[in-house]
Amino acid sequence: MSFNSSDIGAFQDIWVFCEQREGKLMNTDLELVSEGRKLADERGSKLIGILLGHNVEGIAKELGGYGADKVIVCDDPALEVYTTDAYTKVLCDVAMEEKPEIILIGATNIGRDLGPRCAARLRTGLTADCTHLDIDMNKYVEFLTESSTLDVANTTFKMEDMNLKMTRPAFGGHLMATIICPRFRPCMSTVRPGVMKKGEYSQEKADACEIQMYPVSISPEDLKTKVTDVVKETKKLVDLIGAEIVVSVGRGISKNVEEGIGLAEQLADAFGNAVVGGSRAVIDSGWLPADHQVGQTGKTVHPRIYVALGISGAIQHKAGMQDSELIIAVNKDETAPIFDCADYGIAGDLFKVVPMMIEAIKAENANK
Ligand SMILES: Cc1cc2nc3c(=O)[nH]c(=O)nc-3n(C[C@H](O)[C@H](O)[C@H](O)COP(=O)(O)OP(=O)(O)OC[C@H]3O[C@@H](n4cnc5c(N)ncnc54)[C@H](O)[C@@H]3O)c2cc1C
Repeated sequence: MSFNSSDIGAFQDIWVFCEQREGKLMNTDLELVSEGRKLADERGSKLIGILLGHNVEGIAKELGGYGADKVIVCDDPALEVYTTDAYTKVLCDVAMEEKPEIILIGATNIGRDLGPRCAARLRTGLTADCTHLDIDMNKYVEFLTESSTLDVANTTFKMEDMNLKMTRPAFGGHLMATIICPRFRPCMSTVRPGVMKKGEYSQEKADACEIQMYPVSISPEDLKTKVTDVVKETKKLVDLIGAEIVVSVGRGISKNVEEGIGLAEQLADAFGNAVVGGSRAVIDSGWLPADHQVGQTGKTVHPRIYVALGISGAIQHKAGMQDSELIIAVNKDETAPIFDCADYGIAGDLFKVVPMMIEAIKAENANK
């Protein structure tokens, strides 16, 4: 097999590594396949899912429903549970043979382990934790115009550039950096879960998706680790990413933490279908567990409604919630930056405002 990562003309197609756990696809796979579809259309190339596991062929077609033209399935008992050695070996073997131009991987715990390992073995670059991807230069310029402080009108761009433009927060979220990998292939990127939007499912596309069973070769010498047992966290983690409505609290509850969290829970109950999140200040203070954190180093959410109670609106917090459909902020400081991205802003003490909100929602519910 000849593989030379700098022979960039030899590479084609966009791949999405589709992570499964216990034979179930992750939500990130569907988000990434949906995003990959857009990129493949911009590039004029095929979108291929790569699925590793054991007895997982049955779940492959679903990826087609979100836009994959084809799914390469690598089936082996050694791939049933994730291990760095086995997954790296197989993903790199297939990539060296098939030469994809781009590989997208979800920045889950597994993706963050697998991505860099494969990039090093394939002698290419990887941009970690991306929050935005473009290929088409017009779309990229549009993105810069909408969301950057760059003087786009007076900047010269190479409009024919078809490299994947991978944007991610840098320097603690104070700036967004766009990174390209122009001299090596595949161009690799891990993408934060919850950032890309899952597209519409099409049964017709799922039925049309080609499934290719790929021969796998793993020998005992390839494996340095063995999973003897999988112990699951017994605590039920909060599903911030999938929530319709998120009510988040910040350091503004510090006057009476118990009451502040209680009010957020009551507000979430009144809405129904809502969960409680928090800023990092709240998590660092131990007022809520880490899985409740929204923001750059927490979860990225885009619910139908996001309520920020006593949250100042630091750039790192906004990075995780500013794409919510509707943002309501309560803060006693009317100059707080959270109001810049809020659709409704209430300048006031949350301990007085939230009980009124709860009453208003209850009254509205009773009228229905
Ligand atoms: C690398 C890095 C990563 C980070 N990642 C994250 C992240 O993922 N998520 C995150 O949230 N932060 C993150 N941060 C921290 C971030 O910079 C802020 O420090 C944090 O978001 C502040 O949390 P806060 O808004 O709750 O607290 P503060 O900034 O202290 O704001 C509290 C707000 O509450 C208001 N307030 C006070 N009392 C009341 C009251 N009674 N009623 C109404 N309003 C009141 C105040 O006016 C103030 O605006 C990160 C920082 C760094 C450097």
